[in-house]
Amino acid sequence: EAKHQNASNITFYERGMDDAFSQLIDMEPILRKAFKHNEFVLYLQPQFDFDYQQLCGFEALIRWQHPERGLLSPAEFIPHIEQLGLTELLDNWVLERAAEILKEWQTRFKHVWPIAVNLSAQQFQQSKLVEHLTELMTRHQLDASFLELEITETVAMSDLSNGMEVIRQLRDIGFKVAIDDFGTGHSSLAYLRSLPINKIKIDRSFVSELQVNRTDATILKAMIRLAHGLGKRVIAEGIETQDQQDILQQLGCDMMQGYFYSPPIKLELAEQLIENELKLGREPLPSSLATA
Ligand code: C2E
Ligand code: MG
Ligand code: MG
Ligand code: MG
Repeated sequence: EAKHQNASNITFYERGMDDAFSQLIDMEPILRKAFKHNEFVLYLQPQFDFDYQQLCGFEALIRWQHPERGLLSPAEFIPHIEQLGLTELLDNWVLERAAEILKEWQTRFKHVWPIAVNLSAQQFQQSKLVEHLTELMTRHQLDASFLELEITETVAMSDLSNGMEVIRQLRDIGFKVAIDDFGTGHSSLAYLRSLPINKIKIDRSFVSELQVNRTDATILKAMIRLAHGLGKRVIAEGIETQDQQDILQQLGCDMMQGYFYSPPIKLELAEQLIENELKLGREPLPSSLATA
């Protein structure tokens, strides 16, 4: 989607990052330098609660503010980071930055809107994940419920018994756990029951097909019912139109995220949004912070 954002990027994409940038040039020193010089930025995409009709949290989405090439989306650099074995650098950077932002909000606004971060497969499978996350929140004196961890279905289920155990530990400490891109993996519905998660995030592909394909509404309805029956909340991602919003709301979806409400935005803009919420007397929702 970033492809269409600005004209100056188009030449770059057309030339292809693969030949022009990543294959002829050794990416490792460039990426390491980018971390050292703090060229990465966490954008925040607001999430909206249907029942309360207000902001209920944010998802952290990483961008690379490249000095010459402009703003790069994760699809353009995360694969290189993974290939070079630098995932840990990325994961740690994202978690530190998210914690700093939460801390800043706590000090400045006296209220904290939860931030969801995307966990990489490697991170989720790492034996010290729980310890690392606990240390992070303790060091910043933050409540675990301020952080939501997004894990894709495929990752959570690749080793189901281990995945269940890790999620259980995270939940015991108070972290919230969401299954990202829900519906794109296999056996979703059957396994949903055994995963002690808080929330499912319905994948954008279901949402974008909504108007064209009426069967998707039927599938969505079943997914939402099942999730609710198991005591889990449901958010839909990639909502772009009023129609999609109305259908999802009617199907009982609890929250939405998408360009229709807001694209991912810079921290300053997210903070303006928060200030505006506070001016209207809206505080973070207990339902989005509850650990149960
Ligand atoms: P995701 O977690 O499923 O994130 C949702 C993606 O959909 C984001 O793309 C977001 O900008 C985009 N999006 C949101 N609303 C709309 C909409 O209404 N329409 C459309 N067409 N797209 C929408 P983005 O930021 O390019 O991120 C892509 C993927 O990269 C993410 O998918 C996630 O898997 C990964 N990613 C992003 N940030 C991080 C990170 O900090 N760490 C890790 N490990 N992965 C990340
Ligand atoms: Mg996500
Ligand atoms: Mg997603
Ligand atoms: Mg997705």
